[in-house]
Amino acid sequence: MFVSVVVPCMNEEESIPALVDRLAEAIRPWADRAEIILVDDGSTDGTWEAIRKARKRVPQLVGLRLSANRGHQVALTAGLEAARGARIFMLDADLQDPPELLGEMMAMMDRGYDVVYGRRARRQGETLFKKASAFAFYRFLNALSDVAIPPDTGDFRLVSRRALDAVLSMPERARFLRGMFAWAGFRQIGLEYVRAPRAAGETKYPLRAMLRLATDALTGFSTKPLRFATRLSFASLFVTFLMAVYVFGSLILYQTAPGWASVVLAVSFFAAIQLLTLGILGEYVGRLYIETKRRPLYFVSEEARGPEIVSSSSSNREHFKEIA
Ligand code: UDP
Ligand code: MG
Repeated sequence: MFVSVVVPCMNEEESIPALVDRLAEAIRPWADRAEIILVDDGSTDGTWEAIRKARKRVPQLVGLRLSANRGHQVALTAGLEAARGARIFMLDADLQDPPELLGEMMAMMDRGYDVVYGRRARRQGETLFKKASAFAFYRFLNALSDVAIPPDTGDFRLVSRRALDAVLSMPERARFLRGMFAWAGFRQIGLEYVRAPRAAGETKYPLRAMLRLATDALTGFSTKPLRFATRLSFASLFVTFLMAVYVFGSLILYQTAPGWASVVLAVSFFAAIQLLTLGILGEYVGRLYIETKRRPLYFVSEEARGPEIVSSSSSNREHFKEIA
């Protein structure tokens, strides 16, 4: 197997026919040594049926159905663990990432790169809020983390087998794959592209999911927020000192007790700082808890490979046993 294509799909029944056609075309130069793995991430629409139907047209298609919705990053991981290719190409199901760039990415990899990531030169059909928050987030993340994570990239990329194996050897549950590939190292290069609007359906990344991915990224790649809490406590000590000067100054000068406003302000100021630092601590402690449980990331409920649908209950448990 030379090329594996991996696509996570959640409620993408409308996009799948066009996606499969364009992918089948893109893998044509390597058609007899290629596979396309579509991971159905617990969809509630006809995604799985659409995958099965498409398999009649495209024999290289493999369907993997997760037992429940596990989120984009885990669905992608499931596909990556099933991939057998020497080179692995990953993209979104909604055709925002053009499958046609596979050829160009392959050519770049031939020049000795292990990771060719797509860099969004422009994003079409996305809200100003999404564009602005993504722009700010990637810069903030890079300021905090010790790993240089290329800004304005998604999971759209072509990776070599050794880069993929490096990432799959990382057992964390909170997965921020684009950061994990950056952390793995190897020779990396970006390819600029224009991100198209969604082919059909709606975004599966509401604000809640975006915030979750962002906290996974921040806590997964930096402990600076924890140090920030320490710095904040020094800053609040300084503010306390200023307040003390003010309180004693006014006591001596005016012989009066300071008013309630300053008391209320001081109390709420320190309460806010304490809650913030507790919240930051909580994010890390919660993740420690989740990670120590070592649950498998996902279960596969159905697998469509070769001519027939076979039932299966495989998971990445073996992998977890190995690293335990
Ligand atoms: N996705 C998934 N599981 C989820 C959410 C999203 O597999 O819980 C898939 C989705 O089907 C798509 C990709 O992840 O292929 C990216 O999602 P989307 O296009 O909605 O994100 P956006 O492009 O809006 O950031
Ligand atoms: Mg999308």
